[in-house]
Amino acid sequence: MNRARIVLATLNRGKVLEIERLLSGLAVELLTREDFETWPDMEETGATFEENARQKACTLADWSRVAALADDSGLEVDALGGRPGVRSSRYAGEEGDSQANMALLFEELKEIPDDKRQARFVCVISLCSPDGKRLEIRETCEGRITTEQRGASGFGYDPVFVPEGMDRTMAQLSLEEKNAISHRGKALRRLRSLLEKGEPAWLFV
Ligand code: IMP
Repeated sequence: MNRARIVLATLNRGKVLEIERLLSGLAVELLTREDFETWPDMEETGATFEENARQKACTLADWSRVAALADDSGLEVDALGGRPGVRSSRYAGEEGDSQANMALLFEELKEIPDDKRQARFVCVISLCSPDGKRLEIRETCEGRITTEQRGASGFGYDPVFVPEGMDRTMAQLSLEEKNAISHRGKALRRLRSLLEKGEPAWLFV
């Protein structure tokens, strides 16, 4: 089996470290932004997590001529018809303002009782070759939205999300506990088990 190369389509250092850790020890060389002098613009204009992940991975693969890996993630709340969805990071307006996002979520859910607050985190990973071959993985983490924030670890909506079968919020879990059940942890482990088997075959030629 030939050694494969994958470039990661993210500038988020935390994501890079998490991906490097979860894909370590494989016959795959991981490249990042730091391995290139310039970098393309990668837009997220899709209506679905799949479209966004694909758009980023395929843009970077086409530009770099190396297979590229991108992910897109967010929170879907059933009582809101799946919102905030692909708009999770800019739900309340400004990109990445988690406090404003959680405040808006509580406001929109204020009439919704405990047994109707089901939600899930979704993660879609897309791996794209320079000639457009693709692999896609979708994983979710089911749970419900609380009525108050609890916990200080993690990021985004972690303080208001209780995973199914638990009492603690995502922000009250250790990183190891979160990775074991999270949408992103599950998706990356599935990718790892495929890569271990030499799949997708087009990556290793
Ligand atoms: P992106 O995939 O980096 O674009 O992230 C999308 C947004 O979804 C983040 O900014 C968070 O608001 C939310 N999100 C995704 N994954 C998580 C998670 O594990 N915990 C909390 N919020 C998350």
